[in-house]
Amino acid sequence: MIRSAKHKTAPIIVWFRQDLRLRDNPALLAAHESGRPILPLYILDDKNSGEWKMGGAGRWWLHASLTALSEGLRGKLSFARGGSVKVLKEQVRKNGADVVYWNRCYEPWRIACDTAIEAELKSMGIEGKIFNASVLFEPPTTVKKDGTPYKVFTPFYQKGCLGKGLLPPFPEAAPENPTLFENKVLSLDGLKLLPEKTWYRKMEQHWNPGERGAQERLEEFLDNGLKDYKEGRDFPSRSNVSRLSPHLHFGEISPRQVWHEIRARMVAERCERDGEHFLRELGWREFSYSLLYHFPGLPRTNLQKKFDNFPWRNDKDALKSWQKGQTGYPIVDAGMRELWETGYMHNRVRMIVGSFLVKNLLLHWHHGEDWFWDTLVDADLANNSASWQWIAGCGADAAPFFRIFNPVTQGQKFDPEGVYVRKYVPEIAKLPDKYLHSPWQAPAEVLERAGIKLGQNYPAPIVDLQLSRKRALAAFKGL
Ligand code: FAD
Repeated sequence: MIRSAKHKTAPIIVWFRQDLRLRDNPALLAAHESGRPILPLYILDDKNSGEWKMGGAGRWWLHASLTALSEGLRGKLSFARGGSVKVLKEQVRKNGADVVYWNRCYEPWRIACDTAIEAELKSMGIEGKIFNASVLFEPPTTVKKDGTPYKVFTPFYQKGCLGKGLLPPFPEAAPENPTLFENKVLSLDGLKLLPEKTWYRKMEQHWNPGERGAQERLEEFLDNGLKDYKEGRDFPSRSNVSRLSPHLHFGEISPRQVWHEIRARMVAERCERDGEHFLRELGWREFSYSLLYHFPGLPRTNLQKKFDNFPWRNDKDALKSWQKGQTGYPIVDAGMRELWETGYMHNRVRMIVGSFLVKNLLLHWHHGEDWFWDTLVDADLANNSASWQWIAGCGADAAPFFRIFNPVTQGQKFDPEGVYVRKYVPEIAKLPDKYLHSPWQAPAEVLERAGIKLGQNYPAPIVDLQLSRKRALAAFKGL
């Protein structure tokens, strides 16, 4: 008698991490369906994340996203700081919980925490259950017939993901009026996610973190971006990309929902090519997660060992110029300044600035990875590490090292009218299109008319493209 009465009122802890949503949240839904009161909990764990402690831009986003989630949970979301294992055990004891539900993450440090937590809960006689909320196909299920992971994207996507004839499950609705358990731990401000300097105010103009913002972003993309995605996605001034990446990273929207809504729309509006291409990009996200899961050293270790001896340069000044968008190459500078201003950079430009860093400047891809980690609102261990390895040529299915993006021709091709460059590099906005991507080639009178003094109000190129290209190829040959 006594046990069943306790059982009914004891809360189920739902531990939120990168699943900051109510819709299609399997852990939350399972807790709701049990009929028990739910204690929603968020733990800021800077203890176990090691060198992958969340960066500054991500913390701003997280603060806003938790504010939104807390509102959705009628102010009952509990916050705590510290090592996840310790905090969870304390919360279980304090609130008399006998069940903990959560959704899986794929960062190696989180997997290690999950393993420890499962063992601890078991030893306490507490039920712990993990669900999938963040990927379409879980990495252990997308392996080859012999059980080894795919290292090449196309067979991974076509055979590992789609080849089994199973579509991702349809998304579930948010639980209706869940019973929530009162538990005061810390206030959100107590997590101290926001810095003292209010640089993040500029980000607020560009984003609406949280579940509602994510749903609106998806709607906007379906209405105005999906048609022409396949071609338009390469042009940074066009609105053909979804900008869903931070929402997906923090789990404010479920990839299953995105997948099925895209499919429905591409059929209804007969834009199959665009839709298929977008789904393929979600496939790249799955590929990155699979790589991180099967190769947990991905964030720091070259997947191709021969790169371990690569003769990277050490040049702090060049790195600083790159970080600040002061390289003298307008498309590179525009990208780095977009990142600084908005916490985001268009994918085409990420590739251009990445290639410039590792090939023209010959600086280690870790520098780029670290800078992006701190400044991107969508900084994601799987996508960031896999993408930097791809750019550097040392990853799985990577761009060959000898393919070196030319920032001038890339700019001319993908920003022909200079809309993107003029927006982020206003000091050269008056240059005619012909010289916009290579100001040093402009005759003196053209520079003068545009108000540009190279080396004074806009830098002269910090590196010569042809010489640096030769240097990079020689370094690669020497491996
Ligand atoms: P869309 O074109 O609308 O794509 C939809 C979604 O598909 C994205 O939100 C993303 O989840 C996924 N996606 C698209 N392209 C890729 C890709 N190449 N690899 C993996 N997933 C992809 N993406 C991150 O989410 N976090 C990162 O930290 C990150 N770091 C990167 C670093 C470098 C050097 C490069 C070249 C790429 C990086 N990417 C990263 C991948 C890609 O640039 C972004 O996912 C994309 O630009 C996000 O914009 P979007 O949502 O408008 O993309």
